[in-house]
Amino acid sequence: MVLKVYNTLTRSKEEFTPLHGNRVNMFVCGPTVYDYMHLGHARTYIAYDVIARYLRYKKYSLFYIMNITDVDDKIIERAKEKNVHPIKLAVEYENYFMEDMERLGINTVNLFVRASEHLEEIINQVKTLIEKGYAYETETGVYYDVTKFLDYGKLSRQKPEELSQHRVDPDPTKRHPQDFALWKKRSREEFGWDSPWGYGRPGWHIEDTAITVTYFGPTYDIHGGAIELIFPHHEAEIAQAEAATGVKPLVRYWVHTGLLTVRGEKMSKSLGNFITVRDALKKYDAETLRFFFILTHYRSPIDFDEQKLEQARESLRTLYNTLQNLQETEQADELTEEDKNLQTKLQQFKQKFIDAMDDDFNTPVAVSVLFELAHEVNRVIQKNKRISSKLKEDVSNLFKELGGILGILQKPIRKEAETEIVDKLLEVIIEVRNELRNRKEYEIADRIRNRLREVGIVLEDTGKGTRWRFS
Ligand SMILES: [Zn+2]
Repeated sequence: MVLKVYNTLTRSKEEFTPLHGNRVNMFVCGPTVYDYMHLGHARTYIAYDVIARYLRYKKYSLFYIMNITDVDDKIIERAKEKNVHPIKLAVEYENYFMEDMERLGINTVNLFVRASEHLEEIINQVKTLIEKGYAYETETGVYYDVTKFLDYGKLSRQKPEELSQHRVDPDPTKRHPQDFALWKKRSREEFGWDSPWGYGRPGWHIEDTAITVTYFGPTYDIHGGAIELIFPHHEAEIAQAEAATGVKPLVRYWVHTGLLTVRGEKMSKSLGNFITVRDALKKYDAETLRFFFILTHYRSPIDFDEQKLEQARESLRTLYNTLQNLQETEQADELTEEDKNLQTKLQQFKQKFIDAMDDDFNTPVAVSVLFELAHEVNRVIQKNKRISSKLKEDVSNLFKELGGILGILQKPIRKEAETEIVDKLLEVIIEVRNELRNRKEYEIADRIRNRLREVGIVLEDTGKGTRWRFS
């Protein structure tokens, strides 16, 4: 089966064929860095991480760019409140963002691109749009004239009369209420840059197209983002880029992730109903969070409740228990009939998993295949009480390989005795480190913590003493 991807533009699943042979260029809207990442963001970025992992698993040569919006009115407002420079605030939250991404195991992005480092490209694109008659300058800024771009509304499937019903910025200098800002003129006391239209800041939508045209050219394969970005953000991107370059389409596959809601309302900073990734990671490990999200198809909405997260943890644990069982089962020298059966079935399980992923990255079905496999393995172990070493290895490798696409089942499986020893060893290390800290030997104490971090063990100093966990 070939990979099929749901394209928001055509509202249908399409066969995936990249523009340049095996090469896939993908861009995903990144964070506006003025606050911590919350679970709504995590859902989106985990979804594209799985998509990226799968594309690479299918041997596509994927180049994945994510932008960092570090120039934005929200950042400037927050910086004012906190009385720090906006860039300083943005850098601080960008660092937190990177830490959270790493802890969630999201490691597929090739390049993070900051908007503030692409002012020249942004200004050039605005210039082109003015020259081509798509944009105009007023005393408050430069605006895109949406009536000039006949395709405006094609992604969100809205007619001009529907578009005018959206709540818009009522700036009286604009020709039409739907016209969006490419450049916002600002006073010199505010943070900004010089431009041919005076001092100010770029609009939000122009960042993405200035970046993608620079790195990918006028057309690329996949543009991702959460569903609420379809309008106006992605609609505006199409208008900007297709008008500026004269090439259609800007994007071959528009891929959007469903919302994460809390009691039916979108999880968002503005509603204040969000849980940060850092808080969630204090209670749940990264694989549990990932598993919770991939139990639902990436396009479907998820209504968050903690009970479901607990269930996800339990259900992931049953997969680990199977791996543990397998590890602890005695080895047999010869394959039994059952073993042989299972051996041949492994290929079928793998194919079923791939078929599910080929069907628009259907992770819930892919996960159900892992459970079927686990069920089968448990059945054989229970019946035979022994398993051949070759089969043992093949089964664990398959779990690891398929789990790796989803970013789960990557933790080492230990024998019970080993686990106990690790626990005791860490107790000893923590005791020594605390003694060093009591003696104010902070340098060595920190070195111990850093070295442990490098081998995948995180120490956390809490009010109730030092705890450890696998990172
Ligand atoms: Zn964007």
